[in-house]
Amino acid sequence: MGENSLHVIVVGGGVSGLGTALALARAGHEITVVERDDTPMPESADEAFEWDRRGAPQVRHSHAFLARLRNLLLNDYPDVYASLLREGATEMRFGDDLPPEMTGFVRQPDDDELVMLACRRTTFEWVLRRAAIAEGQVTLRTGVGVEGVVSTVASDGTVLVTGVRLADGTELTADLVIAANGRRSTVPEWITLAGGRAAPEEVEDTGIVYFSRFYRLRDGCEYPPRSGPIGGDLGYVKYGVFVGDNRTFSVTLASSTHDDVLRKMLADPVVFDSAARQLVATAPWLDGRAEPLSDAVYVMAGLLNRWRDYVIDGEPIALGLLPVGDAVLCTNPLYGRGCSSAFWGAHLLADAITSQPSDLRGMALAYDAMLRDQIYPWYRAGVEQDGEARRVSAALLAGEDPDGDTDDPRTFMRGVFREGLLPAMRSDPVVLRAFYRSFNLLTAPDAIAKDADVGARVFAVWQDRENRPPEPQLGPKRRRDFLELLPA
Ligand SMILES: Cc1cc2nc3c(=O)[nH]c(=O)nc-3n(C[C@H](O)[C@H](O)[C@H](O)COP(=O)(O)OP(=O)(O)OC[C@H]3O[C@@H](n4cnc5c(N)ncnc54)[C@H](O)[C@@H]3O)c2cc1C
Repeated sequence: MGENSLHVIVVGGGVSGLGTALALARAGHEITVVERDDTPMPESADEAFEWDRRGAPQVRHSHAFLARLRNLLLNDYPDVYASLLREGATEMRFGDDLPPEMTGFVRQPDDDELVMLACRRTTFEWVLRRAAIAEGQVTLRTGVGVEGVVSTVASDGTVLVTGVRLADGTELTADLVIAANGRRSTVPEWITLAGGRAAPEEVEDTGIVYFSRFYRLRDGCEYPPRSGPIGGDLGYVKYGVFVGDNRTFSVTLASSTHDDVLRKMLADPVVFDSAARQLVATAPWLDGRAEPLSDAVYVMAGLLNRWRDYVIDGEPIALGLLPVGDAVLCTNPLYGRGCSSAFWGAHLLADAITSQPSDLRGMALAYDAMLRDQIYPWYRAGVEQDGEARRVSAALLAGEDPDGDTDDPRTFMRGVFREGLLPAMRSDPVVLRAFYRSFNLLTAPDAIAKDADVGARVFAVWQDRENRPPEPQLGPKRRRDFLELLPA
């Protein structure tokens, strides 16, 4: 080990843990990843799909991999990126599948960075794990969980973490512990048990439940054209279709947590498929061209927006322990940001560690400042968007018109979104590009709102709304009509 290299324990072998391990190993540090799930390395992407990943049950839900993440991989880990493509992931380039009514598209130089990766989450993680292990400086221990931290408390009350305690009672010491243990992370508890302050958190339920099912194209069949919508929001249900690797794809439907009827129905595979066939974007995918990869519909609730602060009043609540990924922030999966912000956060973390390896306080503060500056705005934007979506879905569930109050400025904004932004995204490449750049975390969350040119284009389309045919329906407008179409 070099003079400045550290022995780092990473708790959790998901996207943020593996991203951290990879970044730190390549910076010359020695890493031990401790992953509680007993998950021997699979041989193929299809075997990885069968992984028993009960510690990260979201792996069998649809995952979008945004351009921010794809670009980090391409630029900093071209070998890992190439490996993903070799294992069947594909690129989805802006400009390749434009809506048929869009004219005037001219490729711009920075469209080359507006590329998403289409891949099952299990495939993504499997390739990432293989790359981390191949570093040589990364040891992976699976099948044993971390129960808590080993620590001391200085006379000024500062908690200093020096290692971890495993479920089998053994203790591992390290220069630094990274908590990459996901959305169910109990790190705040570990810190308070060690004598430190509680991590304050902002938390609220996203109000949705996820239902996902995976499929594979039958021999001789192809994906339907992707130039139309690939998802939609009917208020009572949100939905999308996601291309995966190796001729797979998945459909996700999301209902309100309060919609007991739909929640029960959509968990049934027959009803799920039938529901997907009622929705314009997903119907062509389930026209017989594909067969399910599993009998089950995967269901996941408890989907939170949560931000945890590990620095209070300018002081880290513990030294020698840094959280990353979902252990810091969870976001609504509908926006597809979790893996991107986890991997991005892992990079910020590795930069903070590598730039001041012998200053535990300095690295914690530098990391916190970067997270707040670069990632927190995305968290806030999602929370605000969710508040509005919850209001609409509650109104629909109560049989009310969410646009009934014409004095409410939100009603006006919803109208501009529906009859300005959405149609402009189908017809104007400038607006579509601006939307995609923001969606893919390449510009700031408020970039579109601040872009005068885009604003003028959207407004012009909105003003012309009376002269256009009504917006196409993406599925039954009323929830009760939708329910009537489903098998009892
Ligand atoms: C339904 C759903 C859909 C999603 N869709 C998307 C999407 O489309 N795009 C996207 O980018 N993101 C999506 N996300 C978010 C994304 O999955 C997470 O943000 C991402 O997995 C975070 O990575 P992580 O490494 O922090 O946590 P995880 O991937 O959850 O990994 C945490 C790991 O820690 C392990 N662990 C936990 N406790 C311990 C312990 N005590 N000791 C040892 N190991 C432990 C777990 O077994 C697990 O492997 C989705 C999330 C959900 C819930």
